[in-house]
Amino acid sequence: MIFLRRKRKNKTARIQINWKITLDCLNLILECAKSNYPNEFGGLLRVDSNKKNTITEIVILPGTISGDSHAIFKLHMLPIDFTIVGSVHSHPSPSNHPSNADLQLFRKIGKVHIIAAIPYNKYSWKAYDYNGREIEMKIV
Ligand SMILES: [Zn+2]
Repeated sequence: MIFLRRKRKNKTARIQINWKITLDCLNLILECAKSNYPNEFGGLLRVDSNKKNTITEIVILPGTISGDSHAIFKLHMLPIDFTIVGSVHSHPSPSNHPSNADLQLFRKIGKVHIIAAIPYNKYSWKAYDYNGREIEMKIV
């Protein structure tokens, strides 16, 4: 008797969510970043309730302060909402790399984080995981 078995995919591969963002949502992020410049803008990322890997909305917390240093997220205002998967904020500089404060925030809330930098176009933003590792995000 011959047992046929499909070849297993690389078992050591980490389970990686293929994050996606809608073009509308990305454009809104870039617009908010532009209109808040030279201040930072900050918000939360919300996914579609059916397609849970697709970011469709940004949520601005009541009382979110955007200052010229870093957008401050009022974490106690965070709603209990499992469609919120992470954060987004803008940098009033050409660097879209997370600062130490950003990394602390990333570890506290969510799985995916976006930073938009000057000039706030489709090339000047990046997505990161909770550890600050760059991740790929497809625009849909
Ligand atoms: Zn930052």
